[in-house]
Amino acid sequence: MGKKKMKGFAMLGFDTVGWIEKDVPEVGPLDALCKPLAVSPCTSDVHTVWERALGERSDLILGHEASAEVVEVGALVKDFKPGDKVIVPAITPDWCAVESQMGISQHSGGMLNGWKFSNMKDGVFADYFHVNEADGNLAHLPDEIDPVEAVMLSDMVPTGFHGAELAEVAYGETVTVIGIGPVGLMAVAGSVLRGAGRVFAVGSREKCREVAIGYGATDLIDYHDGDIVDQILDKTHGAYVDKVIIAGGDVNTFDQAVRMVRRGGIVSNINYLGTGDYIKIPRVEWGLGMGHIRIAGGLMPGGRKNMEYLSKLLVHGRLDVKPLLTHRFHKFEDLEQALLMMKDKTPDLIKPVVTLA
Ligand code: NDP
Ligand code: ZN
Repeated sequence: MGKKKMKGFAMLGFDTVGWIEKDVPEVGPLDALCKPLAVSPCTSDVHTVWERALGERSDLILGHEASAEVVEVGALVKDFKPGDKVIVPAITPDWCAVESQMGISQHSGGMLNGWKFSNMKDGVFADYFHVNEADGNLAHLPDEIDPVEAVMLSDMVPTGFHGAELAEVAYGETVTVIGIGPVGLMAVAGSVLRGAGRVFAVGSREKCREVAIGYGATDLIDYHDGDIVDQILDKTHGAYVDKVIIAGGDVNTFDQAVRMVRRGGIVSNINYLGTGDYIKIPRVEWGLGMGHIRIAGGLMPGGRKNMEYLSKLLVHGRLDVKPLLTHRFHKFEDLEQALLMMKDKTPDLIKPVVTLA
């Protein structure tokens, strides 16, 4: 008897996407097979396909943001069973790896290797997808959370919040968030939850700017209106900001970040740098290398614990992800349009989400 087949939306090669048929993945003793309830394309999928950021990939099913229903579990899975509704983190580390014991599970087994979906193996834009180490990498979806909203817990919330964590945002601090797409908006929300005083939000799309204010940004900056460092220092009367979170821009953005942050401040980066070979740091403003300005960049932490704790913010009304969901689709086939929207980004777009069940 032949293997059961499924349909998926894939990167066929550089610059090309399309529908393909593959075998339904097999489940090992610790793993799970899931079917998506709702999924969303990520800007990272765009970097991967159209900017060639990860290198060559062919017939790789895309997508790493999903809520799902468990269909099958391996013999050693303890806490999940078929029929359970789950949140699926974009990052699904190998929890036994040495790097996980070092606190950098994102890099379990190699640089960025905790990022498996749509990178090292087929992603979630399929009838079914495979989850490694299900007990560590799935989280039960609380009844109070709509599966469509839960998709934002896969990647946007943990990534934006990781930006605020890496920046160690503290009470009363002034924070600049460069880039206010969905990731930067969650960095604004995360900074505000951690107690930021003033938050500069840098971006130009009107919808994102409106939602940034809703999440607690105090000042809007448009990078088309001149150097953002000048604009911000003008508003602070020359005082440097405490922290900068980079969630947009490119390799040149670090120069601006270092020029606006105070001595001893932190620049955190959660942007996926899809192009360019080097990042330029301004020597003098970096204190000739001695300014105690830290630069930290990180992939979001995956895993069950993070998802379960972040989901409590939704359950208890501390965070509302609905403003991110600007475009809703209801058919699997609409995934293609949703991904192309992420590539082309109209002024009214934050995140498209596709409901499958
Ligand atoms: P968007 O493209 O929606 O947002 C990018 C933002 O950056 C927009 O606000 C845009 O402004 C702004 N921007 C663009 N160019 C500049 C510039 N030169 N100076 C200042 N701001 C600029 O992206 P997402 O929010 O979806 O994702 C952000 C990044 O996070 C992506 O690179 C994505 O791949 C990455 N990512 C990283 C993850 C991680 O684990 N670290 C996980 C998920 C995503 P405008 O309003 O004009 O569009
Ligand atoms: Zn992503």
